[in-house]
Amino acid sequence: MTVLPIVIYPNPVLAQKCSPITVFDEQLATLAKDMAESMYAAKGIGLAAPQIGKPLCLITIDISEEKNDLMVFVNPKIIARSEETEEFEEGCLSLPGIWDKVKRPAEVTVQAQDLHGNSFEKQCTGLLAVCIQHEIDHLDGTVFIDHLSRLKKERDKAKLRKLRLAAKKEAEKNHPA
Ligand code: ZN
Repeated sequence: MTVLPIVIYPNPVLAQKCSPITVFDEQLATLAKDMAESMYAAKGIGLAAPQIGKPLCLITIDISEEKNDLMVFVNPKIIARSEETEEFEEGCLSLPGIWDKVKRPAEVTVQAQDLHGNSFEKQCTGLLAVCIQHEIDHLDGTVFIDHLSRLKKERDKAKLRKLRLAAKKEAEKNHPA
């Protein structure tokens, strides 16, 4: 298993619409394992494949305290959402240091496939509902700050500028001008 580096905003892969997975082979299983390892290593509760630089519809989640309840969602789609909403303070491994309240449906039903290609449905409430909506957003090229009002974004501006600068420096290091 390999711990992969987490892609940091505003890397373009985070703004990309991810491709559906069509081949359910050993390679996919390994990718899911590596994502889980990377998620645990980064102390995250969820990870989407674009966050390790792969624009594919694959998500790993573990919201358990003991970190022993790994869930893998291949090609997940929200097929039902509650009218009732809930506000939760979200963070993202790709946006270190930024936390903000996002309002989302309190309950969603997700349809997805497992690593063998079998379809399943999952009723998601509470933290799982927050997490899965956040991760499915990543597959659509959306990060949680895209949900924030302009006012709130303004508040995070300094931190976002810092991330952009760090990304620029990193790029320059890899490709010296
Ligand atoms: Zn995220």
